[in-house]
Amino acid sequence: KTVVVDGNVIAEEIRTKIISEVGKMKKAVGKVPGLAVVLVGEQRDSQTYVRNKIKACEETGIKSVLAELPEDCTEGQIISVLRKFNEDTSIHGILVQLPLPQHLNESKILNMVRLEKDVDGFHPLNVGNLAMRGREPLFVSCTPKGCVELLIRTGVEIAGKNAVVIGRSNIVGLPMSLLLQRHDATVSTVHAFTKDPEHITRKADIVIAAAGIPNLVRGSWLKPGAVVIDVGTTPVEDSSCEFGYRLVGDVCYEEALGVASAITPVPGGVGPMTITMLLCNTLEAAKRIFL
Ligand code: NAD
Repeated sequence: KTVVVDGNVIAEEIRTKIISEVGKMKKAVGKVPGLAVVLVGEQRDSQTYVRNKIKACEETGIKSVLAELPEDCTEGQIISVLRKFNEDTSIHGILVQLPLPQHLNESKILNMVRLEKDVDGFHPLNVGNLAMRGREPLFVSCTPKGCVELLIRTGVEIAGKNAVVIGRSNIVGLPMSLLLQRHDATVSTVHAFTKDPEHITRKADIVIAAAGIPNLVRGSWLKPGAVVIDVGTTPVEDSSCEFGYRLVGDVCYEEALGVASAITPVPGGVGPMTITMLLCNTLEAAKRIFL
């Protein structure tokens, strides 16, 4: 029987601990962690993600500040906002909501976030340190960190296991592969150019699907007993749903049931963990300063 890994329950456990630690910090030093969020433009998905992040901060006692810039703003404008947050001692974490509008140089902007405040873990030096043995990144990006946390808290051993990461984006797939290597898994990466992804996936004890293609991974792709973490969240039109669409994962859930030993549902699997890891990283950043 397949265990359904409830991301909401696990995320809630972690958030309860965060609330208590923020409370302790307030008592000890009279201050709370602070997160600054930079949102450029009016993309609906980004607005929703940012709203959820700010709400999660409020619920855990973390202070949040939102800087909204217009779609047509210049790199200089964003950089000056980042400089301000970099200097602000009440701000411990800074995140730039991605994707940025086409005319902006994403990598140049992410490079401007002060390393000690890079709670999204997207600064090239944090990614580089994640990749190199013997070095420690200050922050690991939230979605990969959340996936590993789900594995650990479900009692899945990672060391020595064959893991497949489907997708290699800077945000999810690439740091996911690097993080699993750090946990001593044998990692294969499957991407848009991979020949016979099914064959490679079927060898994996742990499958992390992050391609953003609904139902890409069929039941037949899975080794019996594999643990499946489904990162994919693609909105698919569905008039019976509240907002006219529902979120669909990368894994054919019905087919995976009965084959996988454990699986995360979409929604309610990785999503709540991603935001929770952002809260963890922000708390950690503040602890490094205060405690
Ligand atoms: P992306 O579009 O930047 O990257 C997709 C990756 O998948 C690329 O590396 C590409 O090579 C690979 N790919 C494309 N087609 C493929 C195929 N047929 N077979 C194998 N690999 C293929 O997307 P992203 O930002 O990495 O996000 C991936 C998915 O994860 C999206 O659905 C996104 O919404 C979701 N996501 C969820 C969370 C969460 O918290 N739940 C967080 C981030 C992203």
